[in-house]
Amino acid sequence: MNDTYDVAIVGAGFSGLYLLHRCRKLGLTARIWEAGTGVGGTWYWNRYPGAHCDIESMQYSYQFDDDLQQQWNWSERYSPQPELLRYAGHVAERFKLLDGIEFERRVASASFDEAQAIWTLKAATGQTLHARFCVMATGCLSAPNWPAVKGYEHFEGEQYHTALWPKEPVNFHGKHVAVVGTGSSAIQSIPVIAGSARQLTVFQRTPNYSVPAHNRPMDPQHAAQVKANYRAMRASARQNLSGIYGTYNTGSAMDVSDEERRKEYERRWQNGGLTFLGSYGDLMLNQSANDSVVAFVHEKIKAIVNNPETAALLCPDNIIGGKRLCVDTNYYATYNRDNVTLVDVRSQPITEINKTGLRVAETQYDADIIIFATGFDAMTGALMRIDIQGRGKRSLQEIWKPGPGSYLGLAMAGFPNLFTVTGPGSPSVLTNMLPTIEQHVEFIADCIKHVTASGHSTIEAEQNAQQHWWDHVQEAGQRTLKQTTDSWYMGANVDGKARVFMPYSGGFPAYCQKCEEVVANGYEGFSIQ
Ligand code: NAP
Repeated sequence: MNDTYDVAIVGAGFSGLYLLHRCRKLGLTARIWEAGTGVGGTWYWNRYPGAHCDIESMQYSYQFDDDLQQQWNWSERYSPQPELLRYAGHVAERFKLLDGIEFERRVASASFDEAQAIWTLKAATGQTLHARFCVMATGCLSAPNWPAVKGYEHFEGEQYHTALWPKEPVNFHGKHVAVVGTGSSAIQSIPVIAGSARQLTVFQRTPNYSVPAHNRPMDPQHAAQVKANYRAMRASARQNLSGIYGTYNTGSAMDVSDEERRKEYERRWQNGGLTFLGSYGDLMLNQSANDSVVAFVHEKIKAIVNNPETAALLCPDNIIGGKRLCVDTNYYATYNRDNVTLVDVRSQPITEINKTGLRVAETQYDADIIIFATGFDAMTGALMRIDIQGRGKRSLQEIWKPGPGSYLGLAMAGFPNLFTVTGPGSPSVLTNMLPTIEQHVEFIADCIKHVTASGHSTIEAEQNAQQHWWDHVQEAGQRTLKQTTDSWYMGANVDGKARVFMPYSGGFPAYCQKCEEVVANGYEGFSIQ
């Protein structure tokens, strides 16, 4: 077929954009299909009030092009969503990528023709795209999760999901707003909404741990210093399990006095951000160590929140770090406002949405606006919502029903020439996503180049190698306390979803090393035909 590209890329977020650029650099023809009307992925869809990245701006950025990282200026310590969206747009223009992207192309199906070794993608709007290779750059947190509650269609007010936020501003003035959920998206948006709504009611099923962001305008001196040392800082970040630059204490929390431990937690709390959990090396491995930091955060919550009953409701009773730690600006203090109420829906769930609001058991809560900050069908959701058919027309939806399996989070046995960026079985969501994305994109593009340049037509993960890797992913997961918490890492937030620990928790350095070994050994674990 002469309209066949080398590579079809699904998604124009940070993964898809860099992949298109990288493919072109290697002389491969590539086309992106993107469901939205613009680039940016996560930062295109999640426009909710207060949306910021939880990784510092100087780190949550591409490093593949030094001119880009030197010339781009971030305005805050933690980038706000509009700035991240501008950055994605800038990258698309700077590297002349826009002519390679078709927007409003939501992929409904992707199927592999074995005789021709061609993938055919079909859009929900009817168009088709043919390519030798297909890369799902569809994101880990991109398939919105709506609670299985009846009655959405009856509500007469406005309803929003944080991950499908409209482009036009939503006006909260004089309105009674209900927010369902208390994950990162809720924790970021609640303080902002509370500032303009007449009344805000938050429906909490499980409280979450959050540390202060201490966000502030970017200090130009800090930015200049980072830029002068970017290479060393990025290299150092790559040595950390999370891929996030910072100081990590590898010692045990249990080897120091209560006073010293407290001082360290306090120091990190005052500094703010995710590296709070870098206080000690065993916080995610040792229950007593974890308990010590839980007690510290509970104390903080109780000191901030005036009403003791509300404070008690906000204190989680599971381990810290079992779910992704949240990073906030004034979250807990927002519950001291007269216009904010917290409703516990753990013991009695939301039973229905009706004409005027939400019902929890026998109690009706009226609202003008309901916001579902109810997260995502994480890691597998975006892939499972596409009808992907590989060798012998076998369906990924069927194969993954009992839980996903993947070789390195990059490829699946039975699906030749199909790759996933940051798929299940890769460190992805446990790391700074940008360097993780770059590492995957470089692996995938180089691999495709290797296959095509050597005159082969297909590459496919071997079943044995996949199983071996997946067993390792599960073993690594079992070593951490994360497994003790019902989280989206485990698929626990979606009714009926298989409970499997999906991300690789062995750390970014070990993962990169494994990928490098695979390449050095001639793409070990892959069959190239
Ligand atoms: P989330 O962490 O999965 O939170 C969803 C919330 O909705 C949870 O509190 C959940 O309660 C609640 N919920 C779901 N169904 C419910 C129901 N039927 N009734 C009541 N409550 C219900 O989703 P998220 O806040 O969108 O965040 C997801 C991930 O995206 C984060 O962990 C993070 O990795 C990423 N994120 C990052 C940033 C950032 O960079 N700053 C911001 C936002 C999100 P349960 O816990 O009981 O299920």
